[in-house]
Amino acid sequence: MIFSFQVSVEEMKTAADEAHHKGRIIAAHAEGNPGIMNAIKAGVDSIEHGFYVTDEEIDLMLKQGTYLTPTFVADWAIPEFAKGKLPDWEIKKAADALQDLYKNIMHAWKRGVPITLGTDAGTPYNDFSMTPVELQLMVEQGASTFEALQTSSQNSAKLMKIDNEYGTLEPNKYADFLVLDSDPLKDVKAVQQENKAVYKNGIRVF
Ligand SMILES: [Zn+2]
Repeated sequence: MIFSFQVSVEEMKTAADEAHHKGRIIAAHAEGNPGIMNAIKAGVDSIEHGFYVTDEEIDLMLKQGTYLTPTFVADWAIPEFAKGKLPDWEIKKAADALQDLYKNIMHAWKRGVPITLGTDAGTPYNDFSMTPVELQLMVEQGASTFEALQTSSQNSAKLMKIDNEYGTLEPNKYADFLVLDSDPLKDVKAVQQENKAVYKNGIRVF
């Protein structure tokens, strides 16, 4: 479910309550303030982006168990790939924001906010092939390779409330996994391998 900034906390809360009654998980795309705080107060399950998350918001996220999905790669890709192709102001806006959002999000991470993996695919120079690059950026900003990989497996399964069936390889869970040439715990770029083997429910699909 996507909320726009025009709605009040009360309206969002009503939508969130109704969605939760139907067993749905709610994510709100919010980059700045007061949008992030409004969405947390409304009771969403995950904040997407959260670029300007504050300590006050982190306090409430920890209390409520709200997840944060950083989408570093959406901002990183613009200064990385768009020079000479997008307007200078747009590139400058992304480049200026990048250091701030790294700092704010890693602060939330270190304070214990649960992190999931998402990329906002569809923004400039950011398609679904960029998903593994998000893991690389997490590690470059100070996460361990294990913590980064957990965002895409265990944490995402917990957010979606399907962690009794997915998220780790254990008896009685669906076996969704990748087979890679090298160890992603040594170098998380291992998951960027293009011809990796992809298994769903124990059956190879790519
Ligand atoms: Zn978004």
